[in-house]
Amino acid sequence: MTEVELSETLAAARARLAAALRDAGRDEHAAQLLAVSKTKPASMIREAYRHGQRDFGENYLQEALHKQAELADLTDIVWHFIGPLQSNKTRFVAECFDWVHSIDRKKIAQRLSEQRPAHLPALNVCLQVNVSGEASKSGATFEQLDALASAVVDMPRLALRGLMAIPAPATTLAEQRMPLARLRQALETLREHYPQAPLDTLSMGMSDDLEAAVAEGATLVRLGTAIFGARQ
Ligand SMILES: *Cc1c(COP(=O)(O)O)cnc(C)c1O
Repeated sequence: MTEVELSETLAAARARLAAALRDAGRDEHAAQLLAVSKTKPASMIREAYRHGQRDFGENYLQEALHKQAELADLTDIVWHFIGPLQSNKTRFVAECFDWVHSIDRKKIAQRLSEQRPAHLPALNVCLQVNVSGEASKSGATFEQLDALASAVVDMPRLALRGLMAIPAPATTLAEQRMPLARLRQALETLREHYPQAPLDTLSMGMSDDLEAAVAEGATLVRLGTAIFGARQ
């Protein structure tokens, strides 16, 4: 993708998000764009940054650390770790990211809290929910969610910001909305149970279901393909 194309896809993604918010009767600033840059070079992140994008999502730790080193001069990038996280990788994530969207068990959260450096603010975290109940997918079940949230709320170096989901592909808007509506309801329940937590984030909506997610209250939409083009 050339620089011109990237400025165009980014503008189109912003317009698409703005239109979805308008259609949903929501404030134009009610949801933000998270640019998912996995498998894409640091030069493309730099270009998106030049066009005003600040939040970037990465899935693979080694790849992300290389890009972060190349982009160290862009000090106000907000880095989001959105991929599956194994416990032997938590230290670098705790040290090098601002957000983690993929918390699905207590042990990972515990390690991130213990390993978050004292000079950094609390790590923003979302709990990932396996909304479609797919056996192959990561994420806590809806049934496990309250116990997990209850543990994370008490972890001193984590800020429990909300929920994240990657639903199974669906074809119609109504089908897409159903699991996302459940995620929104689950967040509302957690907000009632844990009023002390900053639970303000619904991380949902990707290139294929952005409109459904925004209609169901997404606050952070994670767009990869729509901004950076197809991945290999
Ligand atoms: C890759 C990825 C995305 C972006 O998906 P697109 O369909 O390319 O927009 C969003 N969220 C997560 C967790 C991902 O792994």
